[in-house]
Amino acid sequence: MTSTPLSFTWQSTDTNTEMAITARNVIKTYKGSSATGPKQALSGIDLNVPKGGIFGLLGPNGAGKSTFINILGGTVVKTSGTVTVWGTDLDQDPRQARANIGIVPQELNIDAFFTPRETLEMMAGMFGVPENERRSDEILAEVGLTDQAHAYARTLSGGMRRRLLVAKAMVHQPPILVLDEPTAGVDVTLRQKLWQLIRELNDQGVTIILTTHYLEEAEALCDRIAIINHGQLITEAATTDLLARAGHKTLVLTLADAIDDLPQPAKTALDGYDLTIDHHGDTTRITFATSTISTGDILQKLADTPLQIKDISTEEPNLEDVFLSLTQDQ
Ligand code: ADP
Repeated sequence: MTSTPLSFTWQSTDTNTEMAITARNVIKTYKGSSATGPKQALSGIDLNVPKGGIFGLLGPNGAGKSTFINILGGTVVKTSGTVTVWGTDLDQDPRQARANIGIVPQELNIDAFFTPRETLEMMAGMFGVPENERRSDEILAEVGLTDQAHAYARTLSGGMRRRLLVAKAMVHQPPILVLDEPTAGVDVTLRQKLWQLIRELNDQGVTIILTTHYLEEAEALCDRIAIINHGQLITEAATTDLLARAGHKTLVLTLADAIDDLPQPAKTALDGYDLTIDHHGDTTRITFATSTISTGDILQKLADTPLQIKDISTEEPNLEDVFLSLTQDQ
């Protein structure tokens, strides 16, 4: 069967905002048990998720990520604050707000006795999608499950089940798809396939929000990232800006010969700069603040010294560096 590209019919009444999601001072306090007492999971979150991108919600375990997306999906009721979903205020029109979003849960809870096609039809029924507007076959094609459309769900592999969950979240063609830890516990190959699916959906115009604790996943997929910790927003920025904020780089020099220590003139040439030198055998690693000196400057300063450099490479900071520095400050 050939697949026609999905064209989503946005159900929004909103035309004058560029934001898929806005959150203003969102607080969630769980009642908790008599033993634990109340727990404030979100302590006043302000967030804007622009339309059209892939937005990553990052944070350590217990940060409040699931609480936030469950509020969007309507399964957790916020204590206070304002949320709009594709321009619809969650409190004023919860039905429409829910229609504007599809949530892909983390758990692989699929009814084993229904086929993927039956599952999608049932889901569409629950969302009140009229039969002539259902697109189960197209959606199954989109997530690569055409061949399994009539197989019992219990015979599906883990990867297929995950794709079926994505399909389930799309039956009402929401403009926003939220994926909660989409690749938690999956192998590398499957992770790549899921990333590809996420990118394809985004290319077709679906705004994607995902939570993840894999920083490399956020770095690879997301154009914007919000980091939350202890129920508070620590930062929200374009991924490239966030990486630039790490503010340091490492220059790795491979020397012509192994030496016990750097020659004194090389050390003197780099004196007074904001950098650290780590030398072992034939490798010297110079980690420097990018605001004070550049790779070119360092190489130039070393050029007039007896240091015999055979090869050079640089290491860019990754999101993990940024994440750690931001969350450790707390
Ligand atoms: P994350 O998804 O970032 O791991 P969660 O949103 O699941 O974080 O949890 C945030 C905090 O709220 C945690 O301290 C967690 O223990 C607490 N929490 C989550 N759900 C409940 C609940 N139903 N009752 C009480 N506390 C909860």
